[in-house]
Amino acid sequence: MYDYDLLVVGSANADLVIDVERRPAAGETVLGSDLAVHPGGKGANQAVAAARLGARTALLARVGDDGHGRLLLDSLRAAGVDTGGVLVGGAPTGVALITVDPSGDNSIVVSPGANGRLTPRDVRAAANLFRISRVVSAQLEIPLETVVEVVRSLAPGSRFVLNPSPPRPLPAEVLAACDPLIVNEHEAKVILGEAAGAGDEPVDWARLLLAKGPKSVVVTLGSDGALVASAEGVARIASVRVDAVDTTGAGDSFTAALAWKLGAGASLAEAAAYAARVGAVAVTRRGAQESFPTAAEVDAL
Ligand code: ATP
Repeated sequence: MYDYDLLVVGSANADLVIDVERRPAAGETVLGSDLAVHPGGKGANQAVAAARLGARTALLARVGDDGHGRLLLDSLRAAGVDTGGVLVGGAPTGVALITVDPSGDNSIVVSPGANGRLTPRDVRAAANLFRISRVVSAQLEIPLETVVEVVRSLAPGSRFVLNPSPPRPLPAEVLAACDPLIVNEHEAKVILGEAAGAGDEPVDWARLLLAKGPKSVVVTLGSDGALVASAEGVARIASVRVDAVDTTGAGDSFTAALAWKLGAGASLAEAAAYAARVGAVAVTRRGAQESFPTAAEVDAL
């Protein structure tokens, strides 16, 4: 019997957003809107997305002993995430400084802060969380050596889901544990490296990625839906037609929903179809965590 449907291991950031008429050039100062502070980071986003759907969710992460850390803990708890595994201190909370111009283009500077201090030792100290969680998910906004330790800490019978974002080449040990590896087009190309040249189409990337060792692969394609690939073959998952207003967090909510449904016994294609509905609702609303739907809202789509 598992206490948690999903254990997310990953980042928690405060997103500091200012709207500007023009993003500043080198040496230039521009005036912008009032500052908006939003809870973010791919780990916290995935945990909030899963909990809002009704998954019993825990987060293993690190925040600073500061106001941004408290903002993140508050938003996680409000969504129903168990924050017992969120470590506090060691560095300031991770921050993303974001300027957005009227065309929607942005410039972002990330200070990983406490996310960069989530260590393999922290993972080993959380061994009990791994024993009582059915599915474990991770991203790459924490040190890669920490993700390697996550893979080594998986309990027999649990399932590992990885969204390698921001992407970088992955060790074979991590790739082999993924079931599935979830990538968008950009991430697929970085993970494949030179091998990406062997194919032009998403279906080629899915097959090439599968050959690198994951038990299964999902390639997300924005408004075109997704592809799922496993030893049984490649299948296309249709997207749901919606009026998108802001795609921030679509990938995080997709990944969380997929991980939860897989743990509940859905096939990869069934879980991806549900996740596509979750992502579709998320893009109809502004923001990241604020945009994630409840299960009832997904059913109503
Ligand atoms: P992001 O980095 O913006 O969070 P991503 O690039 O990781 O996202 P996407 O492929 O953009 O991931 O989106 C994930 C899933 O959400 C898609 O596979 C799709 O099912 C759904 N989705 C995204 N954009 C749309 C859209 N415009 N209309 C309908 N569904 C969408």
